[in-house]
Amino acid sequence: MASRSDGRGEPIIVVLLGPPGCGKGTQAGRLVEEFRFKHYSTGQILREEIRRETDLGMQVRELMESGELVPDEIVGKIVKARLDRLSGPGCVLDGYPRNLSQAEYLDEIRGSKPLTVVNICVPDEVVVKRLAGRRFCANCGNIYNAYFSPPERVGVCDRCGGELLRREDDREEVVYERLRVYHEETQPLVRFYKGRDSYEEVNGDQAADQVYDEIGRAVGTMVP
Ligand code: AMP
Repeated sequence: MASRSDGRGEPIIVVLLGPPGCGKGTQAGRLVEEFRFKHYSTGQILREEIRRETDLGMQVRELMESGELVPDEIVGKIVKARLDRLSGPGCVLDGYPRNLSQAEYLDEIRGSKPLTVVNICVPDEVVVKRLAGRRFCANCGNIYNAYFSPPERVGVCDRCGGELLRREDDREEVVYERLRVYHEETQPLVRFYKGRDSYEEVNGDQAADQVYDEIGRAVGTMVP
């Protein structure tokens, strides 16, 4: 079980690990609600740069749309800027770190902020189905799945009536590439973190509420 031996009083950092489509975004949203954490999703931040057509967005667009990782220096800078000004109960890192050098960099920049790592485990075949069916509301960001949690009207958000879209990198051929990158680059992080007492594994192949029961319990032990 996670424990908190140092950094008392410092904001805590929760890292959500797991393959694309394991539910990191959904679970991060719940942690934010319950613990008042900040939510830092590197993928979301980069997609916003692309949407706004900034220089950074133009630089990363092709890599992201083909399912590759963007350079470590780019995401490192994004995360460091946020951790440097982090106050309050803490934050959830959703999508960072994604490889060993990012994990080492995170240990360097977090100072004495305690870290807890939650690995959300989901088999590849479930990932493929979840991502291929995933849709998001262009207006409010609500997430649906064409197979598992469809909206009442096809293509329309139940919550706000906005248009439902598919992420460029949720196209089937890109999903396989993202999974390959995950196994090659990100999965080795499990070994990096596993020996620590603040590492938890949860079964992500169950209903979101049940997944959250496990995550909330693990994170709850870290919060004063
Ligand atoms: P996500 O929304 O977490 O699935 O990320 C979408 C895409 O953003 C990834 O496939 C990468 O191209 C890029 N990305 C997000 N986080 C990172 C990261 N920590 N390192 C490198 N690339 C990232």
